[in-house]
Amino acid sequence: MPQITENLIRDYRITDGKKFRLKDIDPGDTGKARSKKEARHLLQRGIEWLAEEQEKLYATDSWSLLLIFQAMDAAGKDGTIKHVMSGINPQGCQVHSFKAPTSDDLDHDFLWRCSKVMPERGRIGIFNRSYYEEVLVVRVHPEFLLKQKLPSRLIGKKIWDQRFEDIRNFEEYQSRQGTVIRKFFLHVSREEQQRRFLARLEQKEKNWKFSMSDIAERAHWDKYQDAYEEMIRHTATTHAPWFVVPADNKWFTRTVVAAAIVDAVHSLKLEFPTVDKTKRKELEAIEAALKKEK
Ligand code: ATP
Ligand code: MG
Repeated sequence: MPQITENLIRDYRITDGKKFRLKDIDPGDTGKARSKKEARHLLQRGIEWLAEEQEKLYATDSWSLLLIFQAMDAAGKDGTIKHVMSGINPQGCQVHSFKAPTSDDLDHDFLWRCSKVMPERGRIGIFNRSYYEEVLVVRVHPEFLLKQKLPSRLIGKKIWDQRFEDIRNFEEYQSRQGTVIRKFFLHVSREEQQRRFLARLEQKEKNWKFSMSDIAERAHWDKYQDAYEEMIRHTATTHAPWFVVPADNKWFTRTVVAAAIVDAVHSLKLEFPTVDKTKRKELEAIEAALKKEK
């Protein structure tokens, strides 16, 4: 398993962003997967393996896992989360979707609403969008920054670099506390987004997925791509790597994401907690007493 997952994810994992260029990763890539069927089979195995490991994560009650998903609209965040986590016990998993900030959110620092809901020890936390919106949508729409009620003297040219630094520090702090962070940018092409939007307009049962704001954001495509590239260049680290996952083929996206999560959990070498001798003796006594009961 580890070798297969490593082969799948190697080309998409960014641990040092200095040389990263978004154009080096093709959204249509299906990499090392020999066939769709083989990839689906791997995905299934990964899902089953994760379900077993999650029990150990929960029982160990020490590490936690944070999975962050960022993407353009219709890149497949929701479907990927749904598929990859399908075998997971819901009690050990917490999904949070971050939409436009509320007035309560705007009364606090930008990390506040996310730091409140970081996964507890033993849990898997999923952020569907995250504090990274603060260097994406807010960067593409500077008017959003003005709504953040920051003292004007603190809004300068360096604000984005400062945000990158704050995010890096936050993630380093969290990882030193036992939160394993993996970040996924589902990299869809402009053409594939067009096809998916058209499907949402043409097929009645998909109409609900379409939102006017999606088209408005599509108009800013290039600005978003630049913002994503900058974000990855500044916030990819060994303890919190970015995975830039080709997203024009959903089956491939899901397999790569599952493989990256399997790899992260595997690195923890989880075991069910064992009890010491005294405790074992106590348990044996209780077991014997229980057996004697009529
Ligand atoms: P999604 O678009 O993630 O599938 P959705 O369509 O259910 O979810 P929306 O109402 O579109 O939800 O909310 C997501 C929107 O909120 C996105 O356009 C995103 O850019 C915006 N958003 C998220 N975080 C912030 C933020 N910090 N500042 C401004 N806008 C934000
Ligand atoms: Mg939306």
